[in-house]
Amino acid sequence: MLNKRPEALDYRAIRIAGIEGKRYDISIRDGRFTSVKESEPGAQIESLDHTEPFAQQEPDRPAEPTQSEPGLWISPGIIDLHTHLAWTDFDHADQLKRTSSEVEAMQGAAFGATLRTGVTTARDAGGITPQTIRHLVRNYGNPLRVETSSEMLGSADALGTKFLEGRLAEIYATGAGWVKIMATGGLGAPAEKVLEPVFSEEEFNFIVRHAHANQIKVLVHTWGGVTVDWSIRAGVESVEHGMFLTADQAGRLAESRTAYVSTASIYRIAADPAGVLALPPVIRDRAARAAEAHSRAIGYARSAGVRLGFGTDYATPLLHGYNLQELDTLLDYGLTRAEAWQSATSGAAEILGRGHDLGRIAEGYLADAVIWNADPFQARDADVLRESIVSVITGQSEAELAGGK
Ligand SMILES: [Zn+2]
Repeated sequence: MLNKRPEALDYRAIRIAGIEGKRYDISIRDGRFTSVKESEPGAQIESLDHTEPFAQQEPDRPAEPTQSEPGLWISPGIIDLHTHLAWTDFDHADQLKRTSSEVEAMQGAAFGATLRTGVTTARDAGGITPQTIRHLVRNYGNPLRVETSSEMLGSADALGTKFLEGRLAEIYATGAGWVKIMATGGLGAPAEKVLEPVFSEEEFNFIVRHAHANQIKVLVHTWGGVTVDWSIRAGVESVEHGMFLTADQAGRLAESRTAYVSTASIYRIAADPAGVLALPPVIRDRAARAAEAHSRAIGYARSAGVRLGFGTDYATPLLHGYNLQELDTLLDYGLTRAEAWQSATSGAAEILGRGHDLGRIAEGYLADAVIWNADPFQARDADVLRESIVSVITGQSEAELAGGK
């Protein structure tokens, strides 16, 4: 169930995910944590929801018990730093065959599925404008907090700095907080060409400088190669995918505090002949090569101390709502549970510049949180984790996130 901006909600003797052997009394008032204190030994476990419980319930779900629960865990809401909430099909041409009302209903469903799996904040890496976000949040009742780049700058935009200046003005006019640079190819590019820069170094630097001068942050899609070096030198906020980054580049990413959002699980899914994307063999082979490199890149980044951000790159109805699968892949590639969860909570909040009010169970923070009926740090995999969600709490309502009617 979703518990949207609770006015008054108290948990007694609840455990905080990742903190062993302690229980906490936690109070939420008007969507913020107002008190987080270690419980007295022997305290009774309970949760007290002072808001009207029936208004908060899904019609098809029974009321949650409010007392004497066997054990509850709370974690911060998950932050997914790389989604595509507006995309409905792996191939954009397929989306164009759908009616606009069908596309909108699918986008609304993507917001709902993402929020219900515990993702309370997303950074959309291309394909949705702030206006559409507000419309979907208001009209579909899912107070998912979404930052966006609105569009992506790619090969069609590599027409010189004058042209880029116009494109950037269009993107800023949408109200986007980010600019996304497609700096290399991706699954659509053959292996021997995938690291070739899409923009000239001059164009690349121009975009970053222009964005920063306008208080807009920059995320860079790069599979590796020289555009990772450009990203570090230009001071972008984050590089995405990066499966072919070198140990030396990882060292410089760490030094420059540039974030690395690996989006690792999507390449395993894309490589899987039995996977939900069911891609043609040539694309699967490229994805398999990327996935194989990814575990090495993540290893380099981890040992260098790069700021790691959790992102899924999920972009179809078959994947929205399964975002927690990314945690499984990060663990398989060598992160500890604490590191993987940090990348999806406090670490991700810092990458968004929201380290002061998002991503932690702490007094004064927005009460974006997930309540679990089993220890999320012990879950065997993402399916078990998903099953153990009791409720998702959002610190803000639809109206707060999207404005009036
Ligand atoms: Zn993407």
